Amino acid sequence: MTTLTALITGANRGIGLETARQLLKKNVRVILSCRDAAKGQAAVQQLREVSAHISFLPLDIACPEQVAAAADQVTQQYGHLDILINNAAITHVAGTALPKERISNTIMHSNIADIKAVFDVNVWGTLQLTQALFPLLQQSPAGRIINLSSELGSIQLQADTSSPIYHVKKFAYNSSKTMVNLLTVYLQEALRNTNVRAYTVSPGWVKTDMGTAAAFLEIPEGARIIVQAALEDVPTNRFFTHQWQEIPW
Ligand code: NDP
Repeated sequence: MTTLTALITGANRGIGLETARQLLKKNVRVILSCRDAAKGQAAVQQLREVSAHISFLPLDIACPEQVAAAADQVTQQYGHLDILINNAAITHVAGTALPKERISNTIMHSNIADIKAVFDVNVWGTLQLTQALFPLLQQSPAGRIINLSSELGSIQLQADTSSPIYHVKKFAYNSSKTMVNLLTVYLQEALRNTNVRAYTVSPGWVKTDMGTAAAFLEIPEGARIIVQAALEDVPTNRFFTHQWQEIPW
C-alpha cells in the first residue's frame, strides 16, 4: 500500500533520480520534479517500470512563478505532502567554470553575479520552495524536509588544513551549502512545535555529472542516506555523511 507522498527537486538525473527510484521501491508515491519537461517525462517513463505511483511536476526552483504553480498543483492533486527532498543544485553557472589552475581558491576570481546565480538555485530556490510547500507538509502527520548539503559546506572542515575538504575551495558552491546548513538550523528552530522536521544530509562524493567519474561512491550509495532520512527514525539536529558520521558545521 502506498502511504507517503514525496516531492524531489532536480530528479531527472543523478542522485535525485536514484532517490526517486529507491523511494518508489519502498512504496512511496513520488512527485518527480525538474526544470526540463522532456527530461522529466523521460525519467517518469523509465521509473514507471518500478512503480505506477509516480507523476511529473515541471519546476525550476529558482523561478518564483513555477514554485507557486507547483505548490498549487500539489495542493489540488494531493492536498498534502509528507516528504520534501531539496536536491536540485548547481556548482557554477554554465560557461563560468574556472580553469583548473585557478580553482584552488576561487574567492578572488569569482564574479559576484555568478555567485548570486548559484545562491539563487541552491539557497533561495530551496528556501522559497520550502516556504511554498510548508502548508502542505503541515497536512502530513509527520512531514520531513531533507536538504541536500555537502561536506564542502562545513566551515570547520574548510578551515582545517589536515582535511581533504580544505583543498576544494569553490567559493560559490561551498558557501551556498554552508547557507543550506544554516537554513536547516533555522528551520529546525522554527518547526520545533510543528509536526514537520528538517534534516541536512551529505550524500558523500558521488559519481554523477556534478561529482564526476573520479568520485568514490556509486549513485545508489549516495541516495541511500536521503531515503533513510526520509523514512527512518534518524537524528535531526546534526549534519551527517552518507555513513551517518557527524560532520562539524
Ligand atoms: P547533478 O548535477 O547530477 O544533478 C543536479 C540536478 O539539479 C539536475 O537534475 C539539474 O537539472 C537540477 N537543477 C539544477 N538547477 C535547477 C533548478 N534551478 N531547478 C530545478 N532543478 C535544477 O547533481 P547530483 O545528483 O550530483 O547532486 C544532487 C545533490 O547532491 C545536490 O544538492 C548536490 O549539491 C548534492 N551533493 C552532490 C555530491 C556529489 O558528489 N555528486 C556531493 C555532495 C552533495 P538539469 O538536468 O535541468 O540541469
